[in-house]
Amino acid sequence: MMIDMSELDGKGFSCLEGCGMCCLCQPELTSNEMKIFETDEYLRNGLTREHVNGRRTAKPNAIKLQGGRGACYFLKNRLCTINEIKPHFCRQFPVHIHVMRRIQLNVNLSCRGITEGGNNLRAYAKTLMSYIPDSRLADELSLAKNIATEFDQRCRSAGIYQAPERLRSITSKLMPMIKREDGIAKLLAYADGEPEIGDLAEEEVANQINVTAPAKDIDEIARESNYDLFNIDDIAKLPVYVDEKLRWIVFQSFSDEIRALILEEDGKVEPLMNIRKDDIELAQRDPESLNIFADYASLLNSRDPFMGNVASICDLHDYRHDLMTVYVGVLGTNLLDLWWRASLLARIKSIKTIDGCLAMESIRAYDMDCLDALTIGSFI
Ligand code: SF4
Ligand code: SF4
Repeated sequence: MMIDMSELDGKGFSCLEGCGMCCLCQPELTSNEMKIFETDEYLRNGLTREHVNGRRTAKPNAIKLQGGRGACYFLKNRLCTINEIKPHFCRQFPVHIHVMRRIQLNVNLSCRGITEGGNNLRAYAKTLMSYIPDSRLADELSLAKNIATEFDQRCRSAGIYQAPERLRSITSKLMPMIKREDGIAKLLAYADGEPEIGDLAEEEVANQINVTAPAKDIDEIARESNYDLFNIDDIAKLPVYVDEKLRWIVFQSFSDEIRALILEEDGKVEPLMNIRKDDIELAQRDPESLNIFADYASLLNSRDPFMGNVASICDLHDYRHDLMTVYVGVLGTNLLDLWWRASLLARIKSIKTIDGCLAMESIRAYDMDCLDALTIGSFI
């Protein structure tokens, strides 16, 4: 079976001792894993029916979080106490298997164990894939393809269809623009203008986007969008960033401020810093960071979960907007959220200009949220 692993090329991986960041995600067990967990009291005690996403299953099939919002029940002093039999969900990290029109492997760049250079991530992923029976992959793929076909049909009926290859090809022509200071503001303004696209030539669509006047109020757009993202009571659902000291930092918004909190294994939090919402402005980006942001835009453009996220947003809006404008709008919003996240980190670290290092840190602080976004297709 053909599986797209190109995102893994040239990447190495080595899990960092004392990190444990991925143990803040609630693992769900497969039916085979359930059989093992149900036979042992220690393992059984770690299970729950209550899922962090609000679901409640008939039988306990997820692992509890300590204090209902901290790390996995089985994590002690940042070490997994059931390493030999940890669920497939945990073994996969930082690789994700996405199924839509094909199977594609994605890398969670929030993991600090990922390195540029080397190729062992591909070898690691091949081993992971060998544990999944071909018949299961075929079943998941057939199901996901049906959903993707239905989505295409709905788009065609609404007159908004654009082929995925065309969306990607036009977007790839925008990368020089995205490297410029006002590139993101142009993407947002173009999507907002909702132009008729139909079957215009690719070059012409890219040119229209290039010459769009940039949106003027992106500071405010970024502030509101991110403020909403952090405006969640349940700490288990907040974005997490593991910093250079391997501290787990969560961000939560309260009335007119953002609080950075250090999350502990048992779910307790310690305040790190409170920042007034209005004090966070989009910081200047140096040329290296602009290149890194543009590389991230290319990565999103190649990811099937991103395409699936665009599709789910299109569905949410009842197929009213041309797929190209939704695609460009979602890309612009993601890049703006990333820029704002970098600006928040700059504020916390008392840095004025976003450089290459900070741009990489912001991707670590952001990629997990991006991969968690709603998508048609599914992660298995
Ligand atoms: S996030 Fe990455 S480095 Fe950290 S514990 Fe998980 S796999 Fe290891
Ligand atoms: S089972 Fe182990 S690896 Fe998996 S989340 Fe829990 S502590 Fe982490």
